[in-house]
Amino acid sequence: MDKPKEECGIFGIYGISEAANYVYLGLNFLQHRGQESCGIVSTEGISLYKQVGVGKISEFLDDEKLNYLKGYRAIGHVRYSTTGSPTLVNAQPITGSTSKGAVAIAHNGNITNANLIRNELIKQGKVFHSTSDSEVVIHLISESPCEDLVEGVKWALSRLEGSFALLIMTKDTLIAARDPMGFRPLSMGKVGDTIGDIGGTIAFSSEDSAFSIIEAKKLREVEPNEMIIVTESGITTDQILPIKPKTNQCVFELIYFAKPSSNLFHTSVYEYRLEIGRKLARAHPVDADYIVPVPDSGMVSAIGYSMESGIPLGLGLIRSHFIGRTFIEPSQKIRDFGVKMKFIPVPELITGKRIILIDDSVVRGTTSKKIVKLIRNYLPTEVHMRVASPPVRFPCFYGIDFSTYEELLANKHHTMNEIAAFIGVETIGYLDTDLLFTENDSASMGDFCAACFDGKYPSPLNQFSKDGFEQEIKQKYFGNRRGS
Ligand code: SF4
Repeated sequence: MDKPKEECGIFGIYGISEAANYVYLGLNFLQHRGQESCGIVSTEGISLYKQVGVGKISEFLDDEKLNYLKGYRAIGHVRYSTTGSPTLVNAQPITGSTSKGAVAIAHNGNITNANLIRNELIKQGKVFHSTSDSEVVIHLISESPCEDLVEGVKWALSRLEGSFALLIMTKDTLIAARDPMGFRPLSMGKVGDTIGDIGGTIAFSSEDSAFSIIEAKKLREVEPNEMIIVTESGITTDQILPIKPKTNQCVFELIYFAKPSSNLFHTSVYEYRLEIGRKLARAHPVDADYIVPVPDSGMVSAIGYSMESGIPLGLGLIRSHFIGRTFIEPSQKIRDFGVKMKFIPVPELITGKRIILIDDSVVRGTTSKKIVKLIRNYLPTEVHMRVASPPVRFPCFYGIDFSTYEELLANKHHTMNEIAAFIGVETIGYLDTDLLFTENDSASMGDFCAACFDGKYPSPLNQFSKDGFEQEIKQKYFGNRRGS
C-alpha cells in the first residue's frame, strides 16, 4: 500500500512471572508498526534469553520459543526496516556483551549520526554484526568511560542525533529513554498497585493503548530527553542532556501511524483526527451525497468531516483484513489485484451518487488512483478527494520510510488540478500545514516535527553529509533535484 511505514514498535515489562508472554501480547497490539521481523529478550536475573526472527510475532513465536524465554523481565520489538536490510541479522532486540555486562536493546527510530559513529568505531577495531543503526548504541555503552551502567547509558545516548525511543535491559535493570527532541513515542504503565519492588510490575509501550491488553494502567509518558530506570530498588529518572533542546514530536504519529485508541504526545489520537476532519470540511467544502472513508486510516477524519459538513457518512469501501502479503507477492500481475482484493465497493453508496473520498495522507498517489478507478467502475456521478494532512513533499530521516523525493506525488505534480487529474477525481483538497494545530487544540505546532510537509528538519542530518554515504543517500532521497 502507498503509505509511509513506521520503523518499529517496542514493548517491555519488569517484575512479573512469564514476562515474555506479556510482551508477546503487547507486540501483537503493536504489530501495525512493523511486520518484517520481531523478537523478545527476557531474563530471570542470571542470563539473557533471546528469540528473534522474520515475520509477524504470532507467526514466529510458538509455544516452544515462548517457553524458552524465562524470567520476570522482558523487552520486545517489531520492526519494519528503514536503516539496515530487513534480514534476520537486523532483527531486534539486539544483544551484546559490554563492559557493563550483557545488554539487550529494542530501538524505535533512526539515529542520523550512526554511520559517523560506526566508522569511527570500526577505525578503532570494533566489529559490527549488523547494518542496523541500533548496534552503535551497544558499542557506545561498552565504550563509555563511566563504570556505572546508568551513567554509561546516559553518556552513550548523549552522543546520538536523530530519533530514538529505547528499551535497554540488563540482568537487573530496565531503562526506558526518549531522544532529547522526543520524535518517537513511549509510555509507562503499571500492573497492580505496588511498584518499585519485585511484587510490582512496570510496563513500557510505544503506544499506551497496548496496556489495556495486559490490564495495565498508564502512569505517564516517558518525556523527551528523559531516562526512566527501573530496578528492584524502585524507579528513578534522569535527563540525557543537561539542557533539553526544543521538542519535535512526529506529527505523522497522530495523523496515521498510531491507533486511534492511543494517546501520545499528551494528545488523543482519535480526537486529533476527528478535529482534523472538521478543519478539512471547513477549509475544503463540497456538495456530495456521501462521505466515504478509505478504511481504516481515513475513518476518524471522515467522521469529523461528516459531523462538520452534515453530509452522511457511508462505508462505501469495505476493507478485507484477510489478504496476506505472501499471496500478493508472486508476480506484478497478481500484485495489481491488490487494491481490488483489499477494498470492496458497496454499489448502493456509489452508483449515481456524488461522493467525497477521505484519506489520512497521500504519498505517491498510486493507491489513491487505483481506488478511484475501482470506484468509477460503479458509476458515481462525482468523486472528490479530501486529504487529512498537507501534501507530503519531503522524505523523513527520523525513522519513517517514505518514497524517494522524486516519487512523492506532490513533487511530481505541483498544482491541485494536476494532482486531481493524476488521481482521477473532480477536485482534491489537502489540509494546510498551519491547520495541523490551531489555537484551540490541546497541543501546539511548536512541539512537533512536520519536516515531511515543510522541509524544516529539526535535527542535524550528519550521516547524510559528512561521510562516504553522502552521494548515495542524496541520490536515493532527493534524486537529481538535490543531487549536488
Ligand atoms: S519528517 Fe514527518 S514522518 Fe518524519 S519525524 Fe518529522 S513529521 Fe514524522
